[in-house]
Amino acid sequence: MTTIMDGKKVAAHLSEEIKEVVEKSHSLGITPKVALVRVGDLSDSISYENAAVKRFEKLGIETERFSFPEDVSARAFLSRFREINEDYSINGILLLQPIPKHIDMKRVVEIMNPIKDIDGMTPDNMGKLIVKEKNRLEPCTPAAVMEMLKFYDIDLKGKNVTVVGASAVVGKPLSLLLMNQEATVTTCNLYTDDLVAKCKDADVIISAAGAVNLIDEPHVKEGAVVVDVGINFNEEGKLVGDVNYEAVKDKTSYITPVPGGIGAITTTVLAYHLMLATDYQKEPVLFLENH
Ligand code: NAD
Repeated sequence: MTTIMDGKKVAAHLSEEIKEVVEKSHSLGITPKVALVRVGDLSDSISYENAAVKRFEKLGIETERFSFPEDVSARAFLSRFREINEDYSINGILLLQPIPKHIDMKRVVEIMNPIKDIDGMTPDNMGKLIVKEKNRLEPCTPAAVMEMLKFYDIDLKGKNVTVVGASAVVGKPLSLLLMNQEATVTTCNLYTDDLVAKCKDADVIISAAGAVNLIDEPHVKEGAVVVDVGINFNEEGKLVGDVNYEAVKDKTSYITPVPGGIGAITTTVLAYHLMLATDYQKEPVLFLENH
């Protein structure tokens, strides 16, 4: 029997916890606030920003949007970004990506205060992930994968997990989070030789490559857990993941759909991180911990 892992269910569960924490913070006179920073008008970034604002506001978190034209000078942007970063009323910053090439992302990340970095992109937060330091903020997509696995009680200790994709935003930090749960992790990339061999004995396969139908029936062993992080459009223009869902579904014990899987959790995870960030900046009064 295959269980379809439902991202909306996981997000709703996490939202209940966040609402309680937001209410507690309000009762203590704290108004959690997030800044959403966007350069340019990419439609994907605008949709994600709108979805995030809707989610934050529904949870009682204040939002402020900062948008810049595509051709803003690097100097003007970095100077304003520094002010946003130093604004005491702002507890967390979400930088919509990608940003235009003429603005050096490394400079932006250097400026960002790690305890406002709700998408866990600074080296400080990445380092804390390695040593499992408590007051860290994790990248939201890998954290959303972990929320999904936790909600469905998927035990990772001693399990063989294959992660397909090794980017700094998804694959690499996700591999670290899995290692922190004592999983045995194999991380694959575009140059990995014989992907089927790396996947076919895995208890859990997590694909974050951005390639349609990359994970197919031969990759999946009977009873495996399959998590699809990919967001792609197929030849018919339909939104699909990396996994050939219909071909592998019946072989799996648990599988995530696309849409309705990991993508449905990420903005809620960002809201949780905003509350963690708020707590780290005050005398901790909400006593939150990473999940
Ligand atoms: P990226 O392009 O930065 O990295 C892709 C990684 O996958 C690289 O390490 C690359 O070597 C590897 N890869 C690519 N093709 C491969 C192949 N054929 N075999 C093995 N490895 C391969 O992408 P990213 O930012 O890490 O995102 C990955 C996917 O996840 C994309 O589809 C993206 O849209 C999606 N994504 C989804 C969410 C979400 O909320 N669900 C969030 C972020 C990214």
